[in-house]
Amino acid sequence: MRILIVEDEVHLAEALVQILKKNNYTADAVYDGEEGLDNALSGIYDLVILDIMLPKMDGISILKKMRKERISTPVILLTAKGDVSDKVIGLDSGADDYLAKPFATEELLARIRALSRRKGEVINENILEFGDIELNTSSLKLTNSIKDVKLTLKEYELLELLIMRKNVVTPKELIIEKLWGFDSQAEYNNVEVYVSFLRKKLQYLESKVYISTIRGVGYMLEVKD
Ligand code: CA
Repeated sequence: MRILIVEDEVHLAEALVQILKKNNYTADAVYDGEEGLDNALSGIYDLVILDIMLPKMDGISILKKMRKERISTPVILLTAKGDVSDKVIGLDSGADDYLAKPFATEELLARIRALSRRKGEVINENILEFGDIELNTSSLKLTNSIKDVKLTLKEYELLELLIMRKNVVTPKELIIEKLWGFDSQAEYNNVEVYVSFLRKKLQYLESKVYISTIRGVGYMLEVKD
């Protein structure tokens, strides 16, 4: 899951990036409203943590523009403590949740989990299921209840992406953007390498789940009959 943080307090933004990374999310931070809007509109993020008071463009305007452009990415607004009008305007503008600053890390993580549950992606708190496999999103362990194997972070991110997009082909370009970011130098063969690592681990588990190659497009997760 890739999370965008738009927050002009650089220390807070950087701390959030570290916390999210520690919890196996991919996170990027930007520090002003214009950059925030550009990134939010890119469509590569699964969730946006959006401060309201920002230089160049405020969070509410960003949120309204996102919704106008039909970007439905869940948004958690960061509001000033006790400012009820911010919350109301925020929710009316299409925010999914809000958190008053200062907030506890655990609370933010709980809100993120709740929003991913609402999207129907996470079965219980830390488990993603597909076919006969279960992926633990905190220990990065992949299991079919007979054997288990630990994934590296990139393998985990790839499998998570494929599980979330289970009924559609995932293009290689999207995998690069999600795993390495927009401006990365990663290329198709990086993707192929991680797909082959993941295939080996699925084979080790003797899972019915396999990654099929859709030639010229990308990959899709499927289950053998
Ligand atoms: Ca601010």
